[in-house]
Amino acid sequence: SYVGVNSTNFRDFLLKPSLIRAIADCGFEHPSEIQHQAIPSALVGNDIICQAKSGLGKTAVFVLSTLQQIDPVDGETSVIVICHTRELAYQIKNEYGRFGRYMNDIKINVFYGGTPISKDQEILANKDTHPHIIVATPGRLNALVREKKLRLGSVKMFVIDECDKVLDQIDMRRDVQEIFRATPTQKQVMMFSATLSQETRPICKKFMRNPNEIYVDDETKLTLHGLQQYYIKLTDTEKNRKLNELLDELEFNQVIIFVKSTARCEQLDLILNQSGFPSISVHSGVNQEERIKRYSEFKEFKQRICVATDVFGRGIDIERINLAINYDLPKDADSYLHRVGRAGRFGTKGLSISFVTTEDDLAVMQSIEKRFEVAVPEFPPQGIDASQY
Ligand code: ADP
Ligand code: MG
Repeated sequence: SYVGVNSTNFRDFLLKPSLIRAIADCGFEHPSEIQHQAIPSALVGNDIICQAKSGLGKTAVFVLSTLQQIDPVDGETSVIVICHTRELAYQIKNEYGRFGRYMNDIKINVFYGGTPISKDQEILANKDTHPHIIVATPGRLNALVREKKLRLGSVKMFVIDECDKVLDQIDMRRDVQEIFRATPTQKQVMMFSATLSQETRPICKKFMRNPNEIYVDDETKLTLHGLQQYYIKLTDTEKNRKLNELLDELEFNQVIIFVKSTARCEQLDLILNQSGFPSISVHSGVNQEERIKRYSEFKEFKQRICVATDVFGRGIDIERINLAINYDLPKDADSYLHRVGRAGRFGTKGLSISFVTTEDDLAVMQSIEKRFEVAVPEFPPQGIDASQY
């Protein structure tokens, strides 16, 4: 199958029994193609730069290889994982929790902005709580390093997830550079994304030595086979009615609806709730504690409809999302790929529908079709058969 699941077994990687047990608990039977390619190399300490389709298990590559290699010393941090949003940091920390559940001596924590920094400082000041593995967003992590609340002299593994996003944004890149400089030269560096342009690769490689490079250079191979993609042409004022119709007619388990701004996110969430579609919204205007609460409710299937801005567009893994709607089309093909990749995770089926309004939208749609060599047809007026997604 295209997921690449084959006859190899996680046991073949010679992982610790505690990890093998946790992997079995997670229901993972066989490694995906990318795991098969990257894990053995990561386990021997190579630097790795890895571009692979969304939803095919990049997280497990670094979570398993760091857990396997870590040699925990209390009061010291050996592993740093950086990513660009707080929800993603929280999600990755939970993945460490899942895979590390039988490694009782390993402490993992997550640090991100929007929460009192004093709490992080307390955790770091106490040897009994000081994490061996830290997952963090760049701003908060750098603040802790600058204030000398966190010393990175013992770091052995340095991971950046969604690395193009982290390094393309100048403020985040600066934070990462500062954090990086506080770590020892001798360490393993691993970076991951579904999208890694020719321009971004050399920037990533500046942080690495002789990395094992795993790229999907044929961009047409980046789209998800199980995902059916459609567009609907309409005016802005027709969007709400159309969305209502779709939510009524389509059989979805969970749906994520992307909009372009915080204001539109709140507005649409309100409208949906008023029209009998209980939804939640996730955007940067919501306070941090509440954002994580909503993320968790959605992840745990307590909510079925989520309206979000691009803070949810990358990396977020919600198993039951089988419908992604671009209520507002994103500005570029990369964002599109990450957004629709929220549906159809790990080779499951999914459906994406994009609302197209302006000439600019049309141009974006065309660039998507061209770049990924995928036909995105108009959504048929009679709808589509539910067995398709
Ligand atoms: P990516 O980061 O590549 O977009 P994730 O790491 O978020 O993908 O994984 C997507 C989903 O696939 C997650 O729900 C994860 O638990 C699941 N998954 C990953 N690897 C396997 C595997 N070998 N077998 C079964 N499920 C897997
Ligand atoms: Mg990911």
